[in-house]
Parts: sequence; C-alpha cells; structure tokens
Amino acid sequence: MAFTSKTLGLARAAITAAGRAVDAVIRTLTAAWVRAWDALTAPFTTALDALLAGREDWPGRRTIETDPALQQALGDAAAALDTLAELTATEATRAASAATERAAADQAAIIDSQLPPGRATMTPRPGGFHQRAIDAINTRAQQRIISLTRPLSRDADAAMRRELVRGVQVGRNPRDSARRMVKQVEGAFNGGLTRASTIARTETISAYREAAAAIQDASRDVLAGWTWLAELSDRTCIACWSRHGTDHPLTEPGPQGHVNCRCSRAPRAMSWRDLGIDLDEPEDDIPNAEAAFWALPRATQLRIMGAARLELFDRGAVAWEDFAQLRDNPGWRPSWNVTPIKDLVSR
Ligand SMILES: [Zn+2]
Repeated sequence: MAFTSKTLGLARAAITAAGRAVDAVIRTLTAAWVRAWDALTAPFTTALDALLAGREDWPGRRTIETDPALQQALGDAAAALDTLAELTATEATRAASAATERAAADQAAIIDSQLPPGRATMTPRPGGFHQRAIDAINTRAQQRIISLTRPLSRDADAAMRRELVRGVQVGRNPRDSARRMVKQVEGAFNGGLTRASTIARTETISAYREAAAAIQDASRDVLAGWTWLAELSDRTCIACWSRHGTDHPLTEPGPQGHVNCRCSRAPRAMSWRDLGIDLDEPEDDIPNAEAAFWALPRATQLRIMGAARLELFDRGAVAWEDFAQLRDNPGWRPSWNVTPIKDLVSR
C-alpha cells in the first residue's frame, strides 16, 4: 500500500471540507435560534414581571399553568421551535446530500493517489454507477433526520415549562427573580439548538461515511480495506486518537465514533505487487498517533487525556489501545468512546 503524504493530504482535506460544511449549517442554526429568542425575551420578561409583582415566593404550578401572558409566551416559543426544527431538518438534509456528492469525488482522488503511475482507474462520474447507492444513502439520511428532529420542539417546550414550575428563589427584588427565570427559560430553549447541532453534525458525517463506503466498495478490486483517520489535534478525544491508524475490512461500517466524532474512513489500496505491478512502492505515510501524542507539549497531553489517564499511561499501567471502548447504544449504533477511568484502573 502506498498511503503517501499526498493521500493523507487528500483524506484530510476531504474531512476538513465536510467539517466546514457542518460548521456552516451550525452557524445558520445558531443565528436562527438567537433571532427567535430575541423576539421572545420581551414577552417572557413582561409576563414574569407581572406574575411576580408584589410576591415574595415563587408561584405554584397552577398559577404558572394558567397565567395567560405566560402561556401566550410559551405558545409563541413552541411555534418558534417548530419552525426551528423544520429549518434543522431542511439544513441537515441539504448538508448530508452535499456531503454524499462530495464523497464520490473525494474517494476517487484518494484511491487514485495510491495506485501505481498510469493505473488510475477511478474517475468521478456523477450520475454513474454509484448514483443509486448515493440516492439510497440520501433517502435514509433524510428519514433519520426527520425522525430525530421531530421531538426536538416538544422536548424543548417541556424543558421550558419544567423550569417555570421549578422556579427560582424570589428575593427582595422580584424583577431580578424574573430576569433570572428568563435566563433559565432561555437555557431550555437553547437546549434545542444543542440537539439540532448534534443532529446536523452526526448525520452529515454519517452520510459522508456511508457514501465513502459505497464508493470504496465499488473499487474493491484495488482496495485492501480502510484505515481509521482521526484529526490528531487537541480538539480530538483520546478514544479517537487511539483508534487512529487501525485497519478494517471494507465490509465493516464506520468509523463508528462517538456522537459528534469527525473521524474518517480512508480507503487503503492493495500493495502494488498484489495489483500485479512489479515495482517498489513508496512508504506508508500515516502518522503514528501514539508517537505524535508523546511529541506534544505536556499541557496539550493533559488537555486531551486528563491527569488520571496520563498518570496511568506514564507508568505503563494501560496500553494505547485501552483508551477506546466499544459501547452499545440502544436506539443508535455501537460506538467507540473514551474508556472511563474506573475501567482503566480495573484492568
Ligand atoms: Zn472521532
């Protein structure tokens, strides 16, 4: 296999581009959430000021649930959340389908870069052999996005109502108490944004990975498998660091990273000799993650791993591979997560 620095550069550029597309969607969603809340601050503040005027304690559930101004504000918030959930579905679906289109061209270039000179077999052909697989991936992504965004508005609405019933300590100045409650309600409203961002990120990256797998499968006559590539940075969790560089058969889906994981599956070509070319090929150029980790400044190592793990690792009590653990997730796929410290200690 000739996974050269050019191959690595192409693989990195591909995942960076997918990540940028996700970031753009999240910026759009964040701006929409901020605008929506801006319009809701005044109604909530007015309603809560009126409700708390002259009171020394937080009103009971019944009062909260029957106050017309507050209920009106909640109704407006629920309507805004419905619109935001729809926007999330539209934006995430668009990003996912742009990602699958990109994957076709990206994978072709990454595979070509590993083949002997003159052996480039893949040319991206939009509408070609892979189109049916890509269409099916887009349809599945859209269905998943719709079912994931559906409960978003109802759950955020319920969280806002819970905050209002739970209340805050009413101090000497009821207006302060009202302000504090508006902040709590805003937090619950923005819980929807956190979830929307996770849906957009995870589903776009999943669609990209599935499309990459489909293209890789179509090139299986020249591929030996795929390699897990993580971005070796301080934004990457230690589980992904430790999975980086592992080799997998083409039939294995993945990389099965945790929620919000940005890792990629890089196609790995057969050796040139296996491809029937009697030529020495360039060295493999995938960076060794463990060596790269040790080369980092101590402060960065600490940030990535935490003090307890670093201490165990320093004295050789755990191996590099121990930092990732495959976990079953009911309702989702199994995923590799950071191994809890208690599980490392008991090894
Ligand atoms: Zn990852």
